[in-house]
Amino acid sequence: MNTITIYKTKEEQLRILPCIKCGSDDIEFTNHGYTTFNRGTAWCKGCGRKLNFSINWDAHDYDIALIWNRENDLQTLKTRYQNQINELNDQINEIDRLMKELPEEK
Ligand SMILES: [Zn+2]
Repeated sequence: MNTITIYKTKEEQLRILPCIKCGSDDIEFTNHGYTTFNRGTAWCKGCGRKLNFSINWDAHDYDIALIWNRENDLQTLKTRYQNQINELNDQINEIDRLMKELPEEK
């Protein structure tokens, strides 16, 4: 089957998640516009919470909003923290295993 690729432009609405610290959805996004080592900022006008992060030189508000949403999505944060707990438990278990292998002090 012969196929061709068609690129379509489509408008999409992105819901901005409220700030996890204060619940405000009045968030200002800033792209510093550097051509290298560009920075983006999301600033909650409700409580002043500010997120700073690296972004591509050609990033848009949309990209910054995605990062904001990721950092304010409760399920994402819970999963992240659960993964950290699991990782720490693995390290504790490894330490327990090593401690059992050590000869007992007399
Ligand atoms: Zn806030």
